[in-house]
Amino acid sequence: ERLVTASADDVERAAEAALRPRRLDEFVGQHVVREQLSLVLEAATSRGAPPDHVLLSGPPGLGKTTLAMIVAAELGSSLRVTSGPAIQHAGDLAAVLSSLEEGEVLFLDEIHRLARPAEELLYVAMEDFRVDVVVGKGAGASAIPLALPPFTVVGATTRAGLLPAPLRDRFGFTGHLDYYSSSELEKVLHRSARLLDVPLAADAAAEIARRSRGTPRIANRLLRRVRDWAQVRGDGRLDLAAARAALEVYEVDPIGLDRLDRAVLDALCRRFGGGPVGLGTLAMTVGEEAETVETVAEPYLVREGYVARTPRGRVATPAAWSHLGLEPPADQPA
Ligand code: ADP
Repeated sequence: ERLVTASADDVERAAEAALRPRRLDEFVGQHVVREQLSLVLEAATSRGAPPDHVLLSGPPGLGKTTLAMIVAAELGSSLRVTSGPAIQHAGDLAAVLSSLEEGEVLFLDEIHRLARPAEELLYVAMEDFRVDVVVGKGAGASAIPLALPPFTVVGATTRAGLLPAPLRDRFGFTGHLDYYSSSELEKVLHRSARLLDVPLAADAAAEIARRSRGTPRIANRLLRRVRDWAQVRGDGRLDLAAARAALEVYEVDPIGLDRLDRAVLDALCRRFGGGPVGLGTLAMTVGEEAETVETVAEPYLVREGYVARTPRGRVATPAAWSHLGLEPPADQPA
C-alpha cells in the first residue's frame, strides 16, 4: 500500500473519523467554498427550509465527505450516506429516497458512477421530491408516484466534468475543492496533533506538510507514521528529526514522492535520456502495470511539473533532473 495515495480504505476511514472537523469554522482552508456554503446554509436555516442540493467536486482526500457531514451538522439534521457504485439498481436508490425524513441530508459519494436508470430517478427526486415506484412487470407495469419530504442531496465527485448536464443542473450550489497550501496543511496537522494528544513541533509540521501533496488525508496519515516512529524509536516528541527519520523509513521524500514516483523519474532520466518514451515501455521498466503508472504516479508528477505528457510520449522536465541531482543533457529543451 502506498503511503502517499489519496484514497483511503475502511481501516483508515475509521482512524480518520476522529480527526474530522465537525463544524464549518473548524474546517481549514478552502475559504471560497466555505464562505459560499455558509451563506447557503444560513439562508436556508433562517427560512426554515432545506437548502438547495450541493455538489462538491475535487480530488480525493480534500474534504468532500467531511463537508457533507458538516452540512448536516450545521443544519441540525441527520446524514444518510451512500455512493454511486453502491447503488446497483434504480430500486436501491428508490428505497433510500423513500426512507428519507424531512430535512435529512443524503450524501451521494462518487455520484458520477451512478448507473443511468438510478440517475434518471434521482433527477425527478431532486427536482420534484417524488419517486415513481414501478409495480408489476412488462406491459402491465405501472408507475405509482410517491411524494417525498423535502431533503438535500450532497453529491461528491472527483470529476465534475463527467456528470451529465441534466444532473449537474439539479444542484443549486457547486463547490470546487482545490489542493491545500503548505501553511493550510500545517494548520490541519496541528489540529490533528492536538486531537491525538501528541506534541508536534512547528518545524516538524512544516516538514510533514511539504511532503503531503496538498492533501489533508495524506498529511494526517504521515502524521500517524511520524507518531509511531517517535513512540518506538524516539522520545515521543514529534520534532523535525523525528519527522525526517520516520519519513525516510517510509520512503516519502522531501517533496512527497514515494518509491514508485522516483522509479518513474529515474527510468525517464537515466534509462531514456529524459524521453520521450511511451507509457508501456516506461511502466515495464519500473515493473508496474501501465495503468498504475498512469493513474497512481503520473498525476502528481505532471501536476508538479516533473513530467510532461507529449504526443510522442512522456518527457522529464528540468525539475525532474534536478530533483534526482542530475544535469539535464545539453540538447534537452528547457
Ligand atoms: P474526500 O471525501 O474528499 O475524499 P475526506 O472528507 O474523507 O475527503 O477527508 C479526508 C481526511 O482529511 C478526513 O479525515 C479529514 O479529517 C481531513 N480533512 C479534509 N479536509 C480537511 C480540512 N479542511 N480541515 C481539516 N481536516 C480535513
